[in-house]
Amino acid sequence: MSEKRDVIVSGAGPSGAATAAMLAQKGYDVLLYDRYDFPRDKVCGDAVPAGAVALLRGLGMGEKIDRAEAEGKFYPLDGLRIFSPRGYEMRAEFGDHENNSRSYVAPRMHFDATVQAHAVDSGAEFRVGTVKKPLLENGRVVGVTVAENGTTRDILARVVVGADGVTSPLARTLRPKSDQHKDMHRAVALRAYIEDLEEYPGEVEFYLYKEILPGYAWIFPTGLNQANIGLGMRLDHFRQRKEKLEGLLDQFLAMPAIKKRLKRGGQLRDVATWQLNFGSQKNLQHAYDGALLVGDAAGFINPLTGGGIHNGLLSAQAAATTLHEALQADDTSLNRLKIYEKRVHDSMWDSMKRAFTMQRWFLRLPILVDILARQMGNNNALARMFLTKL
Ligand SMILES: Cc1cc2nc3c(=O)[nH]c(=O)nc-3n(C[C@H](O)[C@H](O)[C@H](O)COP(=O)(O)OP(=O)(O)OC[C@H]3O[C@@H](n4cnc5c(N)ncnc54)[C@H](O)[C@@H]3O)c2cc1C
Repeated sequence: MSEKRDVIVSGAGPSGAATAAMLAQKGYDVLLYDRYDFPRDKVCGDAVPAGAVALLRGLGMGEKIDRAEAEGKFYPLDGLRIFSPRGYEMRAEFGDHENNSRSYVAPRMHFDATVQAHAVDSGAEFRVGTVKKPLLENGRVVGVTVAENGTTRDILARVVVGADGVTSPLARTLRPKSDQHKDMHRAVALRAYIEDLEEYPGEVEFYLYKEILPGYAWIFPTGLNQANIGLGMRLDHFRQRKEKLEGLLDQFLAMPAIKKRLKRGGQLRDVATWQLNFGSQKNLQHAYDGALLVGDAAGFINPLTGGGIHNGLLSAQAAATTLHEALQADDTSLNRLKIYEKRVHDSMWDSMKRAFTMQRWFLRLPILVDILARQMGNNNALARMFLTKL
C-alpha cells in the first residue's frame, strides 16, 4: 500500500520550507522533499530584504536569525548604492530596523539551511529525494513519484506543493506547453564569491550600465573584503549579445572603479550561472486540481531587481492559508484552490507591473537612470521613497 500524507512539498528552498513550516505549525502531516541534503548552495545574490526577514520572524524564526547574525553567517545591511551608466551615484539608507527585521546578505548555504531546519523544528518530515513528476488520477494530482534511496516509488497526498524552483518537474508537467515564460520575462545571471575586494561596509552596490541594462551587476558584501558578486541580463538581450556571462563579469571587474578596489586582482570562487523567471508575465496558472506552485516554480521573481526570496515567502503564505482552508473543508479541488491565484495577484501584481514598466524605460532610455541617480544623489528620503515603490 502506498504511503499517504496530508501535504507533500517538493523542494526545501525558502518557499517550500516556509510553506512546510506554516502547514506543520497548523498540525498537518507534511512531508518535505529536496533532491539535496542541507546545507547546500543555491546560485543567488543572497540579498534577503527586511520584509522577508519580518515574515520569517513571524514564523518563529527570530532566535535562529539572531544566532546566524551573531555567528557572522547573515551579514546585516544599512543601505545601498546605485551607480548609473555615466557614473552618478545614488545612496540610500534602508531605515528598516523597526521590529528587529533588517535586511541581510545571507549566503544561501546558511540561509536556506536555517529555514529548512525551522520547517523540521515546526514538525515537517524532511527527506532527501528527487521528485520526478506529479502522480495524476483523472487529471487530478494525488501525489508524487519520487526517487529516494535508489528506488522510485509513488507517495499519495491530499495536496501537493511544487516548490522545486525554476526547473520544477511539477510545473513542467502541469503547465500546458503554451503557458511558459517568454524570453522577455526571463533572465540569466552569474554569481561568484570574491575574496579580495574592499567593500563598502553594510552597503549593497548595484551597477546599471549600458551594456547590460535593463540588467545590472552587483556587489553584495558578506564580510571583510568578501562579497557575493555577479550580473544578470534579460534573456532576450543576452541572446542578442552573444557574449558569455563570464566574459561580462571580467569586463565588470576591469572597470577602473572596481579594479582599484581589488587587493589581489580579483579572487573568485564558486562561479555559477542560473535562470530567473519573472512574475511579470500575465495569466500564468499557479493552482491546479490537487496542487499549487510557489516561489520560483511558479515564477515570482521581480523583473527589475531580480529578487525572488520575499515573493517566494509571500506565495508560501498565500499557499498555506489556501491549503489550510481547503484541508479543513476536505476539498483540494481546483475550484477550491483557485482563490490562491487571487491571493498571489493581490500581494504581488502591482509591484511586478511597476517593476516591469521601469525595466522597459531603463532599457529604452539609459539616460533616465542617470537623471534619477543625479536627482536623488544623497537625498536619502527621496531615494528611499523611490526604492520602496519598486
Ligand atoms: C544569480 C541569481 C541571483 C539572485 N539574487 C537574488 C537576491 O539577491 N535576492 C533575492 O531575493 N532573490 C535573488 N534571486 C532569486 C532567488 O534565488 C529565488 O527567487 C529563490 O531562490 C526562490 O526560492 P524557491 O524556494 O522558490 O526556489 P529555490 O531556492 O530554487 O529552491 C528550490 C529547491 O527545490 C529543490 N529541487 C529542485 N528540483 C527538485 C526535485 N525534482 N525534487 C526535489 N527537490 C527539488 C532544489 O534543490 C532547491 O532546494 C537570484 C537568482 C539568481 C539566479
